[in-house]
Amino acid sequence: MIPPIASRFVAAETATESLDHVAKLNRDGIGGILNLLGEHYETQAAAEEDVSAYLDLITQIGTTELKACISVKPSQIGLDAGDDVFTANLGRIIDHADEHDVFVWVDMEDRTTTDVTLDAYTKFATQYDGDVGLCIQANLKRTAEDLPRLADVPGKVRLVKGAYDEPSAVAYKQKAHVNQAYKQYLEYMFEHFDGGIAVGSHDPEMIEYAKDLHEVHGTDFEIQMLMGVREDAQRELAQAGYEVNQYIPYGDKWMSYFYRRIRERKENLVFAARAVLTA
Ligand code: FAD
Repeated sequence: MIPPIASRFVAAETATESLDHVAKLNRDGIGGILNLLGEHYETQAAAEEDVSAYLDLITQIGTTELKACISVKPSQIGLDAGDDVFTANLGRIIDHADEHDVFVWVDMEDRTTTDVTLDAYTKFATQYDGDVGLCIQANLKRTAEDLPRLADVPGKVRLVKGAYDEPSAVAYKQKAHVNQAYKQYLEYMFEHFDGGIAVGSHDPEMIEYAKDLHEVHGTDFEIQMLMGVREDAQRELAQAGYEVNQYIPYGDKWMSYFYRRIRERKENLVFAARAVLTA
């Protein structure tokens, strides 16, 4: 069981209980993006455990009417064991998801993984006619050059600010610069993308900016936020008619994810402590 202190940010240890969380979200008009917690498996065997857990999850989602999809991390499905292992495993997951009509997002990890992740996404989004999504990071300077290439691929793209501490040679380091890049990349996406845009941010300024761009260009977009972060805003946006999807981590490796949320924002500790007191 996930202890009360972490349960704001992690749905459950099992897929079945996490789907109960999705069902509640769906009642508020919010979709679920399920992510099994785990990363950096060095062996093919370790990666295989999570690949097969995702295959089972897809089958399970396929038997429901839930608005749910999945998001996978490259290093969780074999990237550290080899580029070919990752690509083959991603292909298996997407193929199975295609059979069950489940959408697959690919998370983006640090800068050393960008090329192989973009290549795998391009290959499968083309092969499966857009039923795949990719996360890209506004803090990376290269994103300016990656965007035109992605505009020609028939999939969805989630823009986030970027969670990895990258060197200044390749990344914007100051918040203001990352925000400026985020807006500039969003502008490009609303002008040139027609496959689907996801605004992966809790930042009210970025969300307002996306709404304004939608008014100007008419391009469809969705808003994605993490479980446990600005959930009132998630509900309000859904009620106002925007497409909102919540990224939902689950699984027994919740500890390091929970500490990341706390390190990122001290107020999260207050929320977590409150959850313990009211449990
Ligand atoms: P921040 O700059 O952290 O915050 C801006 C403003 O948002 C704050 O000033 C505040 O007004 C509001 N805000 C933020 N957090 C809170 C809070 N807890 N409570 C209240 N208000 C808050 N990163 C990757 O590198 N790769 C990925 O694949 C990836 N996938 C992601 C998927 C989703 C759905 C989301 C939401 C994020 C993902 N990230 C990923 C993380 C992302 O890169 C950022 O690290 C993270 O979202 C924090 O940036 P932010 O845009 O929310 O804004």
